[in-house]
Amino acid sequence: MNILFYRDSQDQLFHISPRQLKVALTLSLIMAGFTLAALVFANRPLPVFAAFFPVLSAWGILGDVLTAFILFNQFRASRILPLLLLASSFMLTGMLSLFYLLALTGMLPTVGPFAPGPQTSAWLWCFWHLAFPIGILSFCWSVHQKPRIIPLRKLPAYLLVATVSVVGGALLLFTLATAGQNLLPVIIENGNYRKLIDSGFGPFIWGLNALAFVFAMFPYKRRGVLRVWLSVSTLAFLLSITLSLAAEQRYTLGWYASRVDVLIASTVVLLAIISEVNKLFIRLSRQHEELAESQRALEEANEQLKELSGVDALTKIANRRKFDEELRQELNAPQRAKEHLSLLMIDIDFFKAYNDNYGHLGGDMVLRSLAPKLESEALAHFGFTARYGGEEFAIILPGHSEIEAEQIAELMIETVRSLGIPHAYSEISDQITISIGGCTLYPGEKSGAHDLIGRADEALYRAKAQGRNRFVLARSGRPRRPFP
Ligand code: GH3
Ligand code: MG
Ligand code: MG
Repeated sequence: MNILFYRDSQDQLFHISPRQLKVALTLSLIMAGFTLAALVFANRPLPVFAAFFPVLSAWGILGDVLTAFILFNQFRASRILPLLLLASSFMLTGMLSLFYLLALTGMLPTVGPFAPGPQTSAWLWCFWHLAFPIGILSFCWSVHQKPRIIPLRKLPAYLLVATVSVVGGALLLFTLATAGQNLLPVIIENGNYRKLIDSGFGPFIWGLNALAFVFAMFPYKRRGVLRVWLSVSTLAFLLSITLSLAAEQRYTLGWYASRVDVLIASTVVLLAIISEVNKLFIRLSRQHEELAESQRALEEANEQLKELSGVDALTKIANRRKFDEELRQELNAPQRAKEHLSLLMIDIDFFKAYNDNYGHLGGDMVLRSLAPKLESEALAHFGFTARYGGEEFAIILPGHSEIEAEQIAELMIETVRSLGIPHAYSEISDQITISIGGCTLYPGEKSGAHDLIGRADEALYRAKAQGRNRFVLARSGRPRRPFP
């Protein structure tokens, strides 16, 4: 993904929208109208507004340099060569227009080999207005070559060559316009640059810029954002030259108006890129939200799946749903006629206090360590263990009588005690303990699940009331009666 090419017509990113195209067209028409109107009075002299030129130029330079900076980074990300060419063109343009500004506003040292002469600023203007179209033309040419992605390891070398070429080129041209000014023909006299036009050099610069505009504008089918705004920029640049040349003289209406066009030329690409980056940011944050949303949905679905699969998410033993199913099966099993069936309800003592003082994560850890211990103890007696809810566990012990259930329950109480989990806030011990309520069905004794659980629960309540950390067996539901 890069600002130069968008993948296909489906891809809205970096593809110019009809609305943006309309804005680009309107701006071009306004610029053309403004330039035409200014052309009529192009050589009308105006007073020297001291601040006008430096302010607008500084803005233009900033526009060029920032555009170059973003394009350099785009190149670093995508490693598509034309972007490096374009970035270098904007950088060179920015540097030359900076030298022009310094020369014209008398900010260059007046002595030494690089002291400006009467031709210096005019020639810097020429170099600047030659560099930009040459850069654009080479960019257009490179876009039409086979797309080439630079290998990552060569990236620093390319960046170095580009930087050295741009800075070296700009300094060389600056040297030519200052130290070597005697080598250059005279193109300006007393602020009048008629000679530039008569020599044919001015029209040549205009022609080169017109060519750059044509190439930026036309022979490209998939018109992306960058390409469209580059066309607007080259048009603005061309219009500014038209005005400059028509004015023939500095500080005329045409000369001033051309500064406005230059400003547009160096700003539109920057604004377009910033707006695209903004869109990208919005798109990214939306996708991030969607991703978080789908992750939440996935987690929820996962939880549901776990619930359906009968596994408790925290302790990884059977859940309540699985327990209900298991108990129903045991109550209806054929061996019920001949065997006892015991149920143990286990509850951790003073667990709320544990949570309040050690935190919920600490509480979770306790549940996680207790569950497998209780389960393996139950399994050793062919029992089934589930997390009944909260900090309660239920154990189904098929084929176990009251006495056996009591023995198993005592083993469990001992197992938990032997874990030695500190609980400084328990009122009955200094470590985690459990209370168990048990209930046994005699062979053939009928009972519903609800009833059985209720009886075990009631026994658990009594275990709590009697001081916790103990087992209490429910009062028998029915007197022992031999199975017929
Ligand atoms: P008792 O000795 O009478 O059983 O007192 P208790 O504090 O253990 O009983 P109570 O029913 O008042 O509190 C049970 C606590 O268990 C409350 C709740 O915060 C905690 N609990 C329930 N489920 C979970 C869980 O999944 N994780 C954690 N950390 N705590 C839980
Ligand atoms: Mg409880
Ligand atoms: Mg409890």
